[in-house]
Amino acid sequence: MDHRNTMKTKAVFLDRDGTLNADSVHYIKSVEEFHLFEFTADALLILTRLGYKNILITNQSALGRDMITVKEFENIHLNLKTAIRRAGAEIHGIYYCPHLPEDNCDCRKPKTGNLKKAIRDFNIDISKSFFIGDSFKDIQTGAAAGCRTIFVRTGVDSPAIKTIESWKPRPDFITENLLEAAQLIECTERSQNL
Ligand SMILES: [Mg+2]
Ligand SMILES: [Zn+2]
Repeated sequence: MDHRNTMKTKAVFLDRDGTLNADSVHYIKSVEEFHLFEFTADALLILTRLGYKNILITNQSALGRDMITVKEFENIHLNLKTAIRRAGAEIHGIYYCPHLPEDNCDCRKPKTGNLKKAIRDFNIDISKSFFIGDSFKDIQTGAAAGCRTIFVRTGVDSPAIKTIESWKPRPDFITENLLEAAQLIECTERSQNL
């Protein structure tokens, strides 16, 4: 048996805006503008209990555009982690890209720089992991890294998207929201353990 493999952990990579909390076309610039969906804590509790590392992979160009200070940005995540922990769940890591599209960095989704960093930091088995998000970029990112992907219809314009079936890559699953996605992962685990 390969000992290193037995040490590997599984993860659910999560988009932030439109997946955990209501997105805004005007960006999320303050703690006051950050509204967690009512089911997010329950969803993360399911995933935490199943033994997944819950890891945020998020593009936050509002930082690069100087629309939000680093301090306020960190406050949002402090509040987020506290709210999730209060429910008995955990957010294990937050990886964000502060750059603008024209910066051509390797961490802005659909690039996989941040995801690859998380894989190294947590020693993640990508074949046992998922990527959940509300945009095509999330599906591209997850698929490029070799995760199973779940598209959630809670983004600003995702309910109206009719072209998902023709996307390349297509999401492996489509669910209404993060809670349904977590329940789907739970079902997948159960069927594997039969
Ligand atoms: Mg999003
Ligand atoms: Zn970046």
